[in-house]
Amino acid sequence: MTPHPPGRPTWLEIDLAAIVHNFGVARQSVGEGCALYPVIKANAYGLGAVPVARALTAAGAHGFCVAMVEEAIPLRAAGIELPIILLSGFIPGLEHQVCALDLEPVIFDLEAARRLSQLRGPHAPPIPVHVKIDTGMGRVGFAADRLSEVVASLDRLPGIQLDSILSHLARADEIEGAETTRRQLETLLAAVENLGPRGRTLRRSIGNSAGLLGTPEARLEWGRPGVMLYGASPFYPRRNWRDDGLRPVVRWVTHVLSIREVPAGTPLGYGHEFVTRKASRIALLPVGYADGYGRLLKGRAQILTQGCRAPVVGRISMDLTLVDVTHIPKAVAGSQVILLGADGPAFIGVEEMADWMETIPYEVLCRLGARVPRHYRPDLP
Ligand SMILES: *Cc1c(COP(=O)(O)O)cnc(C)c1O
Repeated sequence: MTPHPPGRPTWLEIDLAAIVHNFGVARQSVGEGCALYPVIKANAYGLGAVPVARALTAAGAHGFCVAMVEEAIPLRAAGIELPIILLSGFIPGLEHQVCALDLEPVIFDLEAARRLSQLRGPHAPPIPVHVKIDTGMGRVGFAADRLSEVVASLDRLPGIQLDSILSHLARADEIEGAETTRRQLETLLAAVENLGPRGRTLRRSIGNSAGLLGTPEARLEWGRPGVMLYGASPFYPRRNWRDDGLRPVVRWVTHVLSIREVPAGTPLGYGHEFVTRKASRIALLPVGYADGYGRLLKGRAQILTQGCRAPVVGRISMDLTLVDVTHIPKAVAGSQVILLGADGPAFIGVEEMADWMETIPYEVLCRLGARVPRHYRPDLP
């Protein structure tokens, strides 16, 4: 990593070697029999789907999962050739894109399958599709007891080829969720079993990160690891990345724009919500909620500079954030500031930031703003 990449003095460093390490953790925990299709929806949870897909292709991924058709377009444009599964299917009108980009939709509605079949027709190679059943998440999927009828209908349609049956776990991250997870798994296994010999030709998938790591029986023929690849424990807040052998992936760097010395009693920022109690040195950072450094961080977040922690003060604005560095005399205009990641031995993780924002690490990652340039390490060819 060059110390000052060209462009904005605020950037995200994405450690692709750490993502590959975390993929290795997933691979080791599932073993040989389970193919892994990393979930790179939402631009790989904000980190950049194309570079992540390239790194994980080289690391042995079997394919990828995205939520929607538009997320697959840049992947194909970048030359990613592995299978791409559309977790949220496709809306009417996008069948031609599904065909043209060679995507594998998840089917939870027979009308969608018919539209695809009609467009593809009997002459082109059939498109692999995956059927979703709802085993307890209560969001999308056919009722489990309709599976035989659904499979029979799909088997009659030309142009598509049923590859697997999947479902999604609602509580695999919780200790109290173990019973729900067991029931969901049993429902999936029984529904496929009920298909008889046809069922034995179909692959099965139910594991997200929490399912794959925490429930050995949930590994099945293919898995869908997401958040663990990006360096956060799926079991947060019960466990953190260290407990799961993961490596942090993101380092969010900015620099002090300028320092102001202000007397006691100075109100700072919008709403005058914060007033200095003593003479203070306040550092101005060129980053704000437009970058994903959200307003909920007010009064809670800390940053790292010169290896020390310093508190964010006052409201966070769109482009600017104030930090009290009175106790860090070495912090000056131009000093490096770490919003996420390591600064020497000091460290702020996505899990800690999620606590400050009263959310989960997933949302911290997905909210990292499009305005912030991403730099990848090691540099991609
Ligand atoms: C997002 C998603 C995943 C990945 O979940 P993680 O908890 O990030 O591992 C897996 N399956 C489906 C259907 C998803 O939508």
